[in-house]
Amino acid sequence: MKRIAILGSTGSIGTQALEVIAANPDKFEVEVLTANSNATLLIEQAKKFKPNAVVIADEKKHQDVKTALSSLPIKVFTGNASLNEVVQWSTVDIVLGALVGYAGLHSIVAAIDAGKRIALANKETLVVAGELVMQKAKQKGVPVIPVDSEHSAIFQCLEGEGTKYIEKVILTASGGPFLGKKPNYLVNVKASHALQHPNWVMGAKITIDSATLMNKGLEMIEAKWLFDLKNDQIDVVIHPQSIIHSMVEFIDGSVKSQMGIPDMKLPIQYALSYPERIKSNFKRLDFKEHSKLTFEMPDYKTFRNLQLAKDAMEKGGNHPCIMNAANEVVVASFLSNRVGFMEMSDMIEKTMAAVSYIQHPTLEDYVQTDKEARIKVAEFLKHSQLSS
Ligand code: NDP
Ligand code: MG
Repeated sequence: MKRIAILGSTGSIGTQALEVIAANPDKFEVEVLTANSNATLLIEQAKKFKPNAVVIADEKKHQDVKTALSSLPIKVFTGNASLNEVVQWSTVDIVLGALVGYAGLHSIVAAIDAGKRIALANKETLVVAGELVMQKAKQKGVPVIPVDSEHSAIFQCLEGEGTKYIEKVILTASGGPFLGKKPNYLVNVKASHALQHPNWVMGAKITIDSATLMNKGLEMIEAKWLFDLKNDQIDVVIHPQSIIHSMVEFIDGSVKSQMGIPDMKLPIQYALSYPERIKSNFKRLDFKEHSKLTFEMPDYKTFRNLQLAKDAMEKGGNHPCIMNAANEVVVASFLSNRVGFMEMSDMIEKTMAAVSYIQHPTLEDYVQTDKEARIKVAEFLKHSQLSS
């Protein structure tokens, strides 16, 4: 029986992880559930899964959750510091990192420090501080198993191979809702439009990142650190059907891919059960229904975020952290219609040029960089057309 702490249980990944756990009660047990402010769903989940503890980050909701769970033997904590504590408990075997954004970094570092196995969905943790996080994991002998479907695919392709025979990895991208569109169209798109992803139902932030292709840029950096790759070993190809979840080309020219119907429950379950596989009733891939798999090159000129992420990866140091912070802020602004779709790249680029570069950042440097970048991008946003 594996005891699991789900950081971000009320989100898209979190709720699907609970479906996986509910379907496998002989294998998994919920030890900790956490939410930011969705007290209603957290309470409902706690009543159903009876964890040892819950954390509601938003202190204003603490009393509501406490009152609702008062008749049950469930500890109720609040505040971000509690997240870093609960992941270290001896009763936790696996920490599933499913918070969104930079907010997920510190609890993952705390979990690695405590030697916990990590199932990682929160890609921003590796984008911001991948070198430091993976070094710590190596020192502690902690496996970091990817949940992101592309990285799960690569991880599965590497089973029995290791990383030494990799020539390159090829990340597949659906292209999002605006595949093939040009800037004259994209200047007018609104959040409601960008939130309609053709193949995946996900949280709002990653859905916008998928529409701008920033998601694929973040995933390049995520792959770099997870699989210890050089920058030129990471390629992206657009594959609109999202059946091939990614590929590895080996030094002898052989290419392996992992395929399946797009369903995050599969990589979530694999990350929790690894190195075993669990029989599931997930929908099977029927090649008669998917007889056409197509591939094309990404349009780096229109979808500039992909290029910006590549630049940040190549520059290294705190640049991915700057880019990530700027992106989180502009995505939040775009979601509330305060900045245009194409303007997001301008804001990120300006912020990347404005914040001071640190080649070998410490964890504290990342904290400072994230703060500084958020302040800078907020200034740029103030002067943008839509908010004026
Ligand atoms: P959601 O927005 O759906 O969920 C985020 C979760 O984190 C919620 O439980 C939310 O709580 C909690 N949360 C958000 N901000 C904070 C905070 N500041 N402090 C504490 N808790 C917080 O995101 P997703 O599930 O879509 O994504 C989670 C991560 O997984 C992201 O990094 C994403 O890139 C990655 N990922 C997601 C995929 C998907 O299919 N969704 C696919 C691949 C990767 P509340 O509900 O209370 O707001
Ligand atoms: Mg992905």
